[in-house]
Amino acid sequence: MHRASEDHRSVAFPELVRPLIEETRRLFRTEVGSVALFPASGTGGWEAALTNTLPSGGRVLLPCAGQFAALWGDSARRLGYRVDVLPGVEWGDPPPPDRIEAALAADSGAEIRAVLIVHNETSTGVTADVQAIRAGMDRAGHGALLMVDGVSSIGSLRYRHDEWGVDVAVTGSQKGLMLPAGLALMAFSPKAIAALEHGSPRAYFDLAPMLAQNKLGFFPYTPSIPMLYGLREALAMLAEEGMQAVITRHARLARGVRAAVAAWPLPICCRDPQAVSNTVTTIMTPAGIDASKLIANAFTRYDLALGAGLGPLAGKAFRIGHVGDLNEGMLLGALGLVEMALADAGVALTPGSGVAAAQQLWRETEA
Ligand SMILES: *Cc1c(COP(=O)(O)O)cnc(C)c1O
Repeated sequence: MHRASEDHRSVAFPELVRPLIEETRRLFRTEVGSVALFPASGTGGWEAALTNTLPSGGRVLLPCAGQFAALWGDSARRLGYRVDVLPGVEWGDPPPPDRIEAALAADSGAEIRAVLIVHNETSTGVTADVQAIRAGMDRAGHGALLMVDGVSSIGSLRYRHDEWGVDVAVTGSQKGLMLPAGLALMAFSPKAIAALEHGSPRAYFDLAPMLAQNKLGFFPYTPSIPMLYGLREALAMLAEEGMQAVITRHARLARGVRAAVAAWPLPICCRDPQAVSNTVTTIMTPAGIDASKLIANAFTRYDLALGAGLGPLAGKAFRIGHVGDLNEGMLLGALGLVEMALADAGVALTPGSGVAAAQQLWRETEA
């Protein structure tokens, strides 16, 4: 990434862009879809997803079981869309395919234009079953678009854009892709592309000029060239390890983290054992222990960055991220420091218990 700037209108520039578009297509596992790289964080990707494909004021269905779903819904509301929040979904639950199906089946006027799904809810550590949600939508025979926020999943967890029938997907550069924030990577199905002409007003995030210019190997405005080089390297790293190996590594490392948490023992936020996230674990602190103070102490005393409890989990939970370029040694360091921070906070635990549980799990399971 650290290289001299170059001319993004030069005849040589497509040599960088064209293969990058192809590699991004592989990341999303799409052959029939179109991909785009917007200079934005994930939040910009949400906006691009909505404005490009939904008519002004259109209705969307949102199972809201975490902070990122809530924020996406908030973006939609502020852009003038009507957000139907699926009732009865609690934080810690995955989005329920059967109730999404029922809500769509009940929408006889076909007013719902899209279903918004956060694939991996980073606030709660819960992974949605996108494939089952798609199957439910198909059973309901409803034409709504399926939009997926894959910011903390794509590049680390199994994701299949075409096979799962996702219409619009968004990811960001700063999680599984191991880069600074700054790129919103997106994939659009042919159905989503067909919806462009009935979309809402948009300018910076307009997909049409992006696709037209990308096809020629260029961008409609100045791209962040260091980010493009960084993406090229990140995708090469994933390809070198092999995507299936990357997915397996995340699953194995996450099992070790959960073994440590179970040994302390502290409850995790995810209430469905089938839906535990392999990229982030949200851990509930015991009553009377302020998780915010624990996080601040871990940072100032041990130089350890823990994720905060978000929204209603503020002060009640902390998060261990286990995404991207990561191995057992890095996680053992983090787990050891978490034990020290928990002990400092007054949590009764046996020092070394979590570390030992993770060590045992990783020793007993093949890499
Ligand atoms: C991190 C994250 C986002 C990020 O949004 P930014 O605008 O990049 O901060 C969105 N959705 C999920 C699920 C995330 O984990």
